[in-house]
Amino acid sequence: MIHIKSFWRQVMSKAHYEIALLPGDGIGPEVVDAAVRVLTAAADHADLKLAYTRYEAGAGLYQRTGESMSEADMEAVGQADAVLLGAMGLPTVRKADGTEIAPQIDLRERYGLFASLRPCELFPGVPSRVKADKVNMLVIRETTEGLFAGRHDKLEPSDEAVSDRLTITRATSEKLFELAFEQAKQRRATHGTPGHVTLLDKSNVLRSNAFLRKVFDEVAERHPDIGSARLYIDAGSMMFVTNPERYDVVVTENVFGDITSEIAAGVVGGLGVAPSGDVSLKHGIFQPSHGSAPDISGKNIANPVATILSAAMMLEWLAQQHDDKRCAQVAAAIRNATAKVLLAGPRTPDIGGDSNTESVTKAVVAALSA
Ligand code: ATP
Repeated sequence: MIHIKSFWRQVMSKAHYEIALLPGDGIGPEVVDAAVRVLTAAADHADLKLAYTRYEAGAGLYQRTGESMSEADMEAVGQADAVLLGAMGLPTVRKADGTEIAPQIDLRERYGLFASLRPCELFPGVPSRVKADKVNMLVIRETTEGLFAGRHDKLEPSDEAVSDRLTITRATSEKLFELAFEQAKQRRATHGTPGHVTLLDKSNVLRSNAFLRKVFDEVAERHPDIGSARLYIDAGSMMFVTNPERYDVVVTENVFGDITSEIAAGVVGGLGVAPSGDVSLKHGIFQPSHGSAPDISGKNIANPVATILSAAMMLEWLAQQHDDKRCAQVAAAIRNATAKVLLAGPRTPDIGGDSNTESVTKAVVAALSA
């Protein structure tokens, strides 16, 4: 059994935190700059010291040098206390096999980031197409196995049939579910959420998923203070739209999580307000759920909120890792300031406003001291 909480408590609070910045491509640098301005202002208010180091990675670097991230930078990023990433990849920049460059996936594999945390909260003032009052959920997507397990398998070329492999291991599933139950406890303490975990699976058909459910049940038994439910992925997906209030923490397989986390993001206002964090027990990379959005880059209209909320998540994670209340306070201050701006404006066009990146960023910084 993995004791995530006791692991966290072993790492003590620090004088300052080293933050690696990976702005990347498209709107990545615009939204990372916005988030750093908010982080810096919020940290200054609380006398929390954050030191930033910027690294170049992504499609732009690949075009100039033939590599999307240098080995030295891959290594250096792993030494930081946390990483804030913008977005990487551009549809016009592709490798010889036709795929887009994705150093963020290489980082996931290199540092064993087995879970992607994707909180989706409907903030007052943000329009939603779904009729819902109070949506505040955290979708946890497993990111190293499931239907991505065979990504590097050798494949015999065929024009008749091609298969992908879905593998579930006990080791990863236990880590994933322990994290999910721990997150439910943390959220109950800091966000006032109910303390509940729902597993989404296809255990009625797939043997791998029946095993996933068995491991989930074992872990759930170890957390009697947290409620739990199991739903089939098809009905569970529908409920994101028909009854999103029923969810607190949702945990699921890699591809199911990829899809359902974007449905959840859509319910709460879209990619411009959806933060995320890829974590292992030791490393954390925080980034908006959106991509590099080349259609709007350089126009000063990208919504910086997803990245600002990712920066707040990063601080919440540092607070848990280092048992450091200052980080938790600064995270709460950023979330509150962002909520005020989402309610009163200014807002960017993707959530129905007519403002821009710069004005929203300035307003969040101003709201920190209001
Ligand atoms: P990826 O595959 O890299 O995740 P994607 O193909 O899903 O990327 P995005 O780059 O996320 O696409 O963009 C999808 C759509 O959402 C685009 O129309 C884009 O302009 C819009 N979008 C994404 N992020 C933002 C943002 N921060 N603010 C406003 N609009 C955004």
